[in-house]
Parts: sequence; structure tokens; C-alpha cells
Amino acid sequence: MSDYDFIIDNMKFSYSNISTFETCAYAWKLTYIDTLKREPNFFAEFGTLCHDILEKYFKGELDLFNLPNYYEKHFYEVVQSISLSGTMTQNYYDAGYDFFTNIDINPDDFEILESELKTSSIWNGIELVVKPDIVLKEKSTGKIILMDYKTSIIKKNKNGSIAKSDIDKLNGYKKQLFLYAFFLSQNQKTKIEEIRLWFIRNNTFEIFQYTEKEAIETLNWFMKIVAKIKEEEKFIANISNPFFCNNLCGVRMSCEFRIQNPEKASES
Ligand code: SF4
Repeated sequence: MSDYDFIIDNMKFSYSNISTFETCAYAWKLTYIDTLKREPNFFAEFGTLCHDILEKYFKGELDLFNLPNYYEKHFYEVVQSISLSGTMTQNYYDAGYDFFTNIDINPDDFEILESELKTSSIWNGIELVVKPDIVLKEKSTGKIILMDYKTSIIKKNKNGSIAKSDIDKLNGYKKQLFLYAFFLSQNQKTKIEEIRLWFIRNNTFEIFQYTEKEAIETLNWFMKIVAKIKEEEKFIANISNPFFCNNLCGVRMSCEFRIQNPEKASES
């Protein structure tokens, strides 16, 4: 039982809400109970720009040949936060330019079923909100694909397996998408068959087949965290990752526990 029962009982939960709580309970309180203004950051702005361009491309509002120009024109308009090192902005800019110059997916091969559509659903008395990037039907196979754009990179070993340091990151993405797929099947009766994570900075995919079993496991994880939030009383700050605290946490400027530390810049 928490002091914030009334607020939490009327809260809409999302993947982002739940993962914020898992990262830092205090950040969750500042964000969702105290509703403090969230700070922008370089990575989120770069992600917004790439999402926006891909949405326009799939909707036919931008054609293949105009993608690099559009990207170039809007980069500094959208990506205004300072990056973490002198070369990072240029590296991201170059990776994005390269990506939008070499896209080899043709939107005409797909029918768009949904794009950036926010939907909510009630599950066991909890209201959940999902907003998938895009749901496509492949015309040649009829396969229904849930696709999500990511601007981070998943590191791999020489043999192609996922590097140990990035296994949790990839599992987090998987959970997010299995949750979306489950609720799309509940709400819109859209039966997702395949989940594709499209990594923009190196133009690679991670592909998973959707299974109800994995979706239910993810849903159970989700409901377990919601139950933990409902019981939480202390909302302890997690200062174990100074890089996250100083650069990525949306409520970092309001956090009295943050240890200001000019961490060595690293590209996520
Ligand atoms: S700055 Fe760090 S400790 Fe403070 S709220 Fe954010 S994640 Fe938590």
C-alpha cells in the first residue's frame, strides 16, 4: 500500500513507465507522481528525427531520393542538445546520413496497418498504453510485422552472437515489442507474426517470431512491476550509473541525489 494510491490507481501504465521504475524508483516518482518537466537529450532528439523521417517514408510523404536531403535539412533543427563529445554529433550525423542514403526497403512492398498509433487497453484492472512505431503487412507473403526503429547499437561478438554487455538491452527491447504485439492482438485483433527491430545507425535488423507464450511471460513481468509500484513506499534513488544519471535521466536536473560527474563520453 503506497501513500500515492489515488494517483497510482488512476494511472495509465506504459513500457516506458515500467522501465523507468526498473531503472530508478526515484526517477519514476519524480516523473509520474510529481510530474516534473523532463529534460531533452541528444540521443532522444536524434531518435525523434529518425522516427519522423521513417514515418513519412512509409506513408509516402517522402520518397527515397529525398530522404538524405530531408535528413540534412532538419538535423540541427531537431537535434539541439549538446552531445557528449566533440565527435559524437558528427558520428551520429554521418551514420544517419548513410542510413537514409542506403535504405533498401521499399514501402510499396508493404501495406501500413498502423503507424505511431497510441492505443490503450485494460488488463486485470490496469490501464496500459502502447504506441508501436509501425505495423506492416508484407504484400508478397501476407505476413504481419511489427517494426520498431532503434538508434542505439547492439554489440555483437565475432561469431555473430550478442555481446554479453548488450543482452539485457536487447531483452528489454524484446519485452517492449512483445507487449505491444500482445495488446495489438487484444485491441485491434491484429495478429503480429514477426517482430523486427531496425537498428538505424548500422542498418541491421534483429528479428523475432511472435509467440503467445513469450507474450504472456512478458505480460506477467509487466504486471509484477505494476504490483511492485503499488506497494512501493521509499522510491530510492539509483545512483549506480553516473553516465545515465548525468546524461539520460529525464529528471536529472531535479534530482538531489545525482552525483555530478563528467563521465567519459560513450556512444550508446
Ligand atoms: S539522476 Fe539518477 S538517481 Fe536521480 S532520478 Fe535520475 S536516475 Fe535516479
